[in-house]
Amino acid sequence: MEQMMIQTKSRPYPVFLGDGIIDNVGEWLLSVCNNPSKILIITDQTVKDLYGGKLESVLKAFDLDVLTCVVPSGEQSKSFETYYKCLTFALENNLDRESVIIAFGGGVVGDLAGFVAATFMRGIPFIQVPTTLLAHDSAVGGKVAINHPLGKNMIGAFHQPHAIIYDTQFLKTLPLLEIRSGFAEVVKHGFINDRSFVENLMKTIHSLNHVTSEQLQWFIRKGIEVKAEIVAEDERETGKRAFLNFGHTLGHALEAELGYGKISHGDAVACGMLFALWLSEKIFRKDFQYKSIKNWFNEIGFPVKIDETIQTESLLERMKKDKKTVHSQIRFVLLEDIGNPVLKTFDTHTLYSFLNEWRTE
Ligand code: NAD
Ligand code: MG
Repeated sequence: MEQMMIQTKSRPYPVFLGDGIIDNVGEWLLSVCNNPSKILIITDQTVKDLYGGKLESVLKAFDLDVLTCVVPSGEQSKSFETYYKCLTFALENNLDRESVIIAFGGGVVGDLAGFVAATFMRGIPFIQVPTTLLAHDSAVGGKVAINHPLGKNMIGAFHQPHAIIYDTQFLKTLPLLEIRSGFAEVVKHGFINDRSFVENLMKTIHSLNHVTSEQLQWFIRKGIEVKAEIVAEDERETGKRAFLNFGHTLGHALEAELGYGKISHGDAVACGMLFALWLSEKIFRKDFQYKSIKNWFNEIGFPVKIDETIQTESLLERMKKDKKTVHSQIRFVLLEDIGNPVLKTFDTHTLYSFLNEWRTE
């Protein structure tokens, strides 16, 4: 088991990372939340069926008053309706300001339960117990949100958890597609921070079919370290935190254009990163070994090109609507070098030409 500290201006909090550490959740929860009146586990159906009983029994062994609110699995649960149901559940079961919420699941549950915790009685403590690889990203940094029909993550808050308890055992049941989706964010954290980490990944990981628990811990530790370093400096995304959007400008457009759920977030981001790398080489006249990175992405199973049925114009339209776009200048995170991100803005016409050139290469 290893322990890290996330330092944010709001509060420092620990991350416990290890294989089979679920048994310690009660003890660690009590070390960061003094004498909680009730514990509300918010989880999704899949995670509940797999591990719900285990987590409840671990907590009940500490004589804690435990309740579980189960939401449907998947992005659809980041909705007003589900958010409202969770609040109603909390009120009906007499949760109060001394209660603690546990977000038990992937990023969807983390964002939803975190937003419930941020707003219930003006904010109560919550703990992240992530069960996906992608959650190494979503559980750290305190951004919590639900979706509005007009846009993803549009209704939210900054609310840091009191602790993150990450048991890699859970990842054993995670489907390959979800592992790959989370792995894309691991790779992203490498690209924006640490060249040698990327080189090591490229040397050692040739398939995601049989990643070991040690490898998962290695990915998660690195991903969390990079995210934590950025969040510590820029909790509310006024500067450096924007680098975390590497691969996301095109990635988000692709996700939206294909229809959410048709491509995983990570696959879309991977494709976006590839374009950003290609563009970085062009703009900064550098050689990042784009071709070998592309081959490696292909080996891992990431999509390395955009389906021909998708129009470049439509992608541009989507990027213009992104909440990070200012005065129709599209903001891109590029790399001056691997590990050295910079922000660049493009007008739509220039970006259109680049995107087309990349697509027809
Ligand atoms: P998810 O929570 O929907 O989990 C993916 C799927 O895996 C779900 O069907 C879930 O039921 C299932 N699952 C979860 N754990 C499992 C396990 N151990 N075994 C088997 N199946 C399991 O999705 P995700 O990819 O973890 O998270 C995506 C969400 O995270 C998005 O909504 C995104 O906006 C959000 N996010 C937030 C931040 C942030 O900073 N707050 C950052 C990145 C992503
Ligand atoms: Mg992302």
